[in-house]
Parts: sequence; structure tokens; C-alpha cells
Amino acid sequence: MKLRQTNLEKLEKEAFDVVVVGGGINGAVSAACLSARGVRVALVDRGDFAGLTSQHSSNLAWGGIKYLESFELGLVRKLCMARNRLIRAYPSTVQRIGFYLTHERGFRRSRLVLWMGTWLYWLIGNAFLRPPRLLSRATMAKEEPIVDLTNADGGIEYDDAYLHDNDARFVWNFIRSAMNHGAVIANYVEVTGATRDGNGAWTVSAREGLSGSPLTLRARVLVNACGPHVDALNQEIGARTAHKHLLSKGVHLIVPKLSTSRRVLSFFADDGRLFFVIPMGTRTCIGTTDTRVDGADVRVTPEDRRFVLENINRRLRLPKPLTEADIIAERCGVRPLAVLSEARPGKASPDWMQLSRKHAIDVEGTCISIFGGKMTDCLNVGEEVFVAVSRLGVRARVPGRLWYGEPADTVKDEFFHQARLMELDRMTPATSSEPLSTRLWRRYGSEALGLLESIRQDPRQADLVIENAEYLRCEIEEAARREMVTKLDDFLRRRSKIALVVSHEALRHASGLADACRILFGAEADAKLAEYFGPT
Ligand SMILES: Cc1cc2nc3c(=O)[nH]c(=O)nc-3n(C[C@H](O)[C@H](O)[C@H](O)COP(=O)(O)OP(=O)(O)OC[C@H]3O[C@@H](n4cnc5c(N)ncnc54)[C@H](O)[C@@H]3O)c2cc1C
Repeated sequence: MKLRQTNLEKLEKEAFDVVVVGGGINGAVSAACLSARGVRVALVDRGDFAGLTSQHSSNLAWGGIKYLESFELGLVRKLCMARNRLIRAYPSTVQRIGFYLTHERGFRRSRLVLWMGTWLYWLIGNAFLRPPRLLSRATMAKEEPIVDLTNADGGIEYDDAYLHDNDARFVWNFIRSAMNHGAVIANYVEVTGATRDGNGAWTVSAREGLSGSPLTLRARVLVNACGPHVDALNQEIGARTAHKHLLSKGVHLIVPKLSTSRRVLSFFADDGRLFFVIPMGTRTCIGTTDTRVDGADVRVTPEDRRFVLENINRRLRLPKPLTEADIIAERCGVRPLAVLSEARPGKASPDWMQLSRKHAIDVEGTCISIFGGKMTDCLNVGEEVFVAVSRLGVRARVPGRLWYGEPADTVKDEFFHQARLMELDRMTPATSSEPLSTRLWRRYGSEALGLLESIRQDPRQADLVIENAEYLRCEIEEAARREMVTKLDDFLRRRSKIALVVSHEALRHASGLADACRILFGAEADAKLAEYFGPT
């Protein structure tokens, strides 16, 4: 909490080049790119970082194969390049994964056409991943016996990538990187309005969410990265833009692990859209849906659950069909889709299913608004915002600085060398899904060296604190010190994915949670627990 308190004080005292409103992926990469290049940046979010759309994605870094059907080859090329860049920059986090697509008889495209499509996809992606494989029914039955082949005439396997931890942790690492480069950042600070003076400089009114105290920020440029709320903030501050958002709700359910293979099983759902069974550590994530909605405040409905469960039960051969009782956790968010504010004359309104996920960056005076986009395209968004800010006359002290990616190989070699010498992986708890060294490096990068030191000083730092959660005592101490955990949900749902893999009820009784809370919140531990679980 000390880090947040210090930053709240700085937010009011200092004048910034840029204030970023919103700490989802788009705000996080903007702050990371700008601050690494020497721009004075503030970022605030009215909830927790990645607390809205960016915690509800499918966790895929993919080239948008489905846009081949609408011949958006330029978009597919751009997304494939963005995916390849992420895999190269974050080899421990963004990893290649096979998509095992079942083709059902009578589907709108033949298996051969899909097969040719996957080859085109592979070539458009610079043949960066493994080439596609045409799968016979016999091969599929052998390799993925869980897939129900009754109506299938075979399938295709092609490669894309996924985020090994989760989307919210991925976002957090950009927020942390921005802070490492001097950005002043706080969660639970809502922007309520903003005015510009004659030179375009902003006075931003905000409210600190825990106490309700007002706060004033000053900056030359405002970046509106409010995701589904971009339009609302623009309306509030009087910014006019060429684009606006339409919103599409998407639901995923987390269930016990369905397949032991490390592949995404992929199907065409009853509504004709791609549907996924995605590995998530010791669990499986299934979904998603695509429903047009008018607001960002969405919940999983009984129809959503039925749709997802029925689609899975129809396409997998499970020992017994999945029911609502198998749901461990749910994710539900809205995709902000960028469309032109005013339809062009003679242009039909867009087909909902075909609405593409391109992003758009609109600049009006000193206000920059980010519309739409995908996790996959985040590095481009960061760079485009940097260019837009530079064009407004903000000087970057180190404009060419590389601002993303894992630490250099020399740091990685040193980490794994030290880990081997102290036999770290022998301390891996039996319930863990991977060796400790792999996990610590992926989550903390160069900071993981400090964790090794803590364990060397006191081996109890390698103890598991919360039952069934892959978190060591030293990691929780690290979170308390450096990860701006303000509410328990920030830790359980976004810095970690504990609340996705352990059910709410199991968490309530998990031994060690109270202990973890004491590390995170000290004297406020009981209050934070009560806030999370509600009145008993
Ligand atoms: C179901 C689903 C599946 C998806 N799957 C994928 C996928 O597999 N791969 C992929 O690349 N992309 C995927 N996406 C898309 C991707 O998740 C989104 O494009 C991305 O997360 C949007 O990020 P954002 O930063 O624009 O918005 P958000 O993450 O919503 O962030 C906006 C932030 O602004 C804050 N905010 C709003 N108003 C204010 C205010 N007044 N003051 C302060 N803060 C404010 C909010 O609290 C929020 O944290 C998926 C999306 C959904 C919904």
C-alpha cells in the first residue's frame, strides 16, 4: 500500500507530459512505451489494472485466422506479425500452441478449403510457426480421443500462440515496467472530468476510490484508454472523434481439466463461430460467446452457461456431460469494437459477426483516444500512441529506446544458473504444474533473482502459503511490496489467477489465505478478507 500512497501524493504534486486514463492493455502499453522513452507519464484506473475487458480475453495471441473468411488479408498480416513479435519478445509468456480444429460434415466450408486457408494463414504469418497438418478421423481419434468425431470428417491442426499465465498478469507487467521507468501510477482513481486551457493543457479532476477524496492532475496530453468507456469519457470532456465503440459480450467458463494434451481444441459452435477448449494450468477454459450489448456492465446469464456447456458436451466425448456444478469460475467481458462514428453515405451497417477487431487511434487537439484492438496487437498500440504524443510536441528524451520484451539472455542464464546451484526445482510443490524456476522466471523476469536470494536466506520463503495455489511465501511478499495490491481481488484474480482455478467456496476455506492476507495487508487483513467474501 506504501507504493500506492506515494504515487497518489506525486499525482497531485507533479505536472506530467501525458496522463493516461485507463489501465487495461491499451493504457498499460501506452504508459510503458512513453515512460521508457523518457516522457513524464501518469496513469490512473478507476478499478484495478486490467480489471475490466483485459481480464476476460481468451488469452490468445493470434493472427486472426477467422478474418480470412472476410478477405481482410491486411488485418491478418498485421495481426500475424504482431503475434510473431510477441512470441519473440516474450518467449516464456507468449508461447506457440497447436489449434486442433474439428471439421463437421455439412459445414459452410469444406475441409479442403479450410486446409488451404490454414496454409495461406501460415504463409501470411511468414511461416513463423509449424506448418498446418491435415488430420484424418483415425489420427484425431488417436491423438485427441476426447473429441467426438460422430459428425466429423477429420480436421486440421495449425499453430497460433497463447498467454501462459493470464491476460491480467500480462497487462500488469507493462504497468510495472512503466513504473520502473518513472511513470506515476495508481489504481482505484476515477477520472470524473477534464478541461483544457488555451494551449490545450489539461486539468483532470479525479476521485480516489477508497476515501472518495478529490484529486487534480495536470498534463499536456490526455490519452483516453478507457476501453468500453472511451465514448463516455470523451462525451464528459467534450472530445469529438471519428470513431466510436460497439460492444460485444463474451463469456468463458473455467472447468476441471478436460484434456491432458497442451493444445487448444477448436470447433465451430452452433452459431458458426470458432469455439475453444483452452488449457489453463490445472484447469480448462471453454468459450466464448459473442452477443451485442449496449453497456459494459455485463453478467453471465443462464442462457450463456447453457450455450457454452451444450456446445462443449455436443463436441467432446466426456465420461459424463459437463453441468453447471462443474464450473469453477466464470469470465465475462465486452469487446470494444471500433466503428466510424458516422456511417459513410451508401455504406451498409456492418455485419455483426464480421465486425473486425482493428484498432483506431483518434487525435483531437491534445486528446488521444484508443478504440478497439486486441491484446495481440498491443505493441503496435504502444508505439502508435508514442508517435501521436510526439506529434503533439512532447519531447521524448530517449525516443528510440526498446520498451518491451523479456530481460537479456545473460540475465536469464544467470537466473537459471543460480536456480540450478541451489536446486530450486527440487523445492517445487507436488501440486505444481511446472518446475519452480520456469514459473518464477516467467512471472518476475529479472526480479526473480531477488526471490532466489530470499529463499537462500530463509528456505521457508519457498513454502506454499495458500492451499492449491501456485504461490510461494516470497512471491506474496513481492506482491505486497511491488504489485500495488489494493484489494484482495487484485491479487487473487489479476496478479495471480488463483480465483480462476480455485472455486470461491474452496477459497473461503483455504488454509493459508488469512496468512497471505496478513502479508499483503498487515493490520487491514481481516477487513480485506471480509470485503472479498462479503458478510457471512
Ligand atoms: C470475451 C473476450 C475475448 C477476447 N479474446 C481475445 C484474445 O484471445 N486475444 C486478443 O488479442 N484479444 C482478445 N480480446 C480483446 C481484448 O481483450 C480487448 O481488446 C482489450 O482487453 C481491450 O483493452 P482496453 O485497454 O482497451 O480496455 P479495458 O481492459 O477495458 O481497460 C479500460 C480501463 O479503463 C478504466 N476506466 C474506464 N473509465 C475510467 C475513468 N473514468 N477513470 C479511470 N479509469 C477508467 C477501466 O476501469 C478499465 O480498467 C477479447 C475480448 C473479450 C471481451
